[in-house]
Amino acid sequence: MTTTLPTIGHFIGGRHITPSEGRASEVFNPAIGVATARVALADDAALEQAVGAAHAAFPAWAATSPLRRARIMFKYKELLEKNADRLARLITAEHGKVFTDAKGEVQRGIEVVEFACGIPQLLKGEITEQVANGIDAWTVRQPLGVCAGITPFNFPVMVPMWMFPMALACGNTFILKPSERDPSAALLLAELLQEAGLPDGVFNVLQGDKQAVDGLLRHPQVKAISFVGSTPIAEYIYATGSARGKRVQALGGAKNHMVVMPDADLEQTVDALMGAAYGSAGERCMAISVVVAVGGVADRLVEALAPRVRALKIAEGSDLAAEMGPVVTRQHKDKIVDYIGQGVAAGAKLVVDGRGFVLPGHEQGYFLGGSLFDQVTPEMTVYRDEIFGPVLCVVRVADLAAAIELVNAHEYGNGTAIFTRDGNTAREYGFRIEVGMVGINVPIPVPMAFHSFGGWKRSLFGDHHAHGPEAVRFYTRQKALTQRWPNSVAGGAEFAMPTLK
Ligand code: NAD
Repeated sequence: MTTTLPTIGHFIGGRHITPSEGRASEVFNPAIGVATARVALADDAALEQAVGAAHAAFPAWAATSPLRRARIMFKYKELLEKNADRLARLITAEHGKVFTDAKGEVQRGIEVVEFACGIPQLLKGEITEQVANGIDAWTVRQPLGVCAGITPFNFPVMVPMWMFPMALACGNTFILKPSERDPSAALLLAELLQEAGLPDGVFNVLQGDKQAVDGLLRHPQVKAISFVGSTPIAEYIYATGSARGKRVQALGGAKNHMVVMPDADLEQTVDALMGAAYGSAGERCMAISVVVAVGGVADRLVEALAPRVRALKIAEGSDLAAEMGPVVTRQHKDKIVDYIGQGVAAGAKLVVDGRGFVLPGHEQGYFLGGSLFDQVTPEMTVYRDEIFGPVLCVVRVADLAAAIELVNAHEYGNGTAIFTRDGNTAREYGFRIEVGMVGINVPIPVPMAFHSFGGWKRSLFGDHHAHGPEAVRFYTRQKALTQRWPNSVAGGAEFAMPTLK
């Protein structure tokens, strides 16, 4: 049966390469629980081919003027807009998220391309004329070489696009290793880049698993690695890649808290929580998974939330009325169900239980209803661990200070939000909280493409955040040049330092 499934292959040197044998894994449609394709898992030969193609394409691409690179990005933006529905359909078919959400992720990716269109301006260096008599000094930013991106299943278009548009615009060549759970969108992204005029070999897609990742980490011609995924793997990528002298940025997992103050607008807060906790079935690194209910707001909040959670419209992602689709795999569904059981066993109050949800006609799909826990305490696994599913935990605290202490004590520090009507409370929270991205009455404070995205603590390993100005710094290295022309040395040899004159 599985042998008749189509194979999703690599895109290397401007060509689709679809191996007819070798390692592969199945790709499922989570809404029906059926394997729809097999994805090739790169062996060492495919890895060498991809690195070889990217390495060979680098000198000419690095020497291409930033303006010409920008023009390809302009064209790419146009093609992405034309093909946004196609991309979104591929995302929904393999990831399961609802179509409108998939379109949203494509849009966020396009915004990074828009930022990359400004690369001639972004790459400008600094110059100081006349640092000493007849001497000028300036700095330039040059590309690194072959860069690799290793990406998670939950944003198969947006997260790769946090990386490669800026890497390419800076003059690097790129190998994308997408998640093996939803590998198809990456190939369309590659085809559209080619159509936009990108020379062959500048952007490559290498499908695979740990073997491909380890190959990229080992390869001396790979100069930089951008990773987004779970924290244990992020830490491994950072430790292994940097020990081999590569530049690494590794974005990891999250447990994002929303602090709700007693003065918050309850209706607005509940609306915000529904989208932030249950959108994309909670499979977002910026999803809110913990509500910190301050000073007695919890009863009102839980009472308002529970019927909304029960009424979530759960359906196949292609159903335009759906608010929430399935989770990505059967194993992931089982893991979430197990966590809910752990929460119950630990004494948390399960106000809404999404475990038994079945979508008629989709009995094999990986659907779950929304779950809502109250009376959660910090030692419970449902609080400590990233569940990455449609499960929201309410923790009750007495005041703002206790809320801040709780959030700061968590190992993750990706995103957080506070809902309040009081400016001073919001300011205090923003100032004292140890989290990389903070929303004030904004539940999912994802920075726009012209700012940079990144968490703190064990949500990010490395120095640089993703996209925006940080991407220019990550994907380039600085060179400082100092010049003096013959007239200034016409007087013959000098033995004193010129700056002492
Ligand atoms: P994952 O860590 O399982 O996989 C991410 C990538 O690493 C994939 O390409 C996968 O093939 C590869 N990989 C998996 N196991 C590996 C191993 N042992 N050695 C080497 N490579 C390996 O993550 P996922 O389940 O695909 O994605 C969900 C996770 O990603 C969540 O933890 C989520 O918070 C995180 N995430 C974080 C951000 C962020 O910005 N911080 C954004 C999106 C997702």
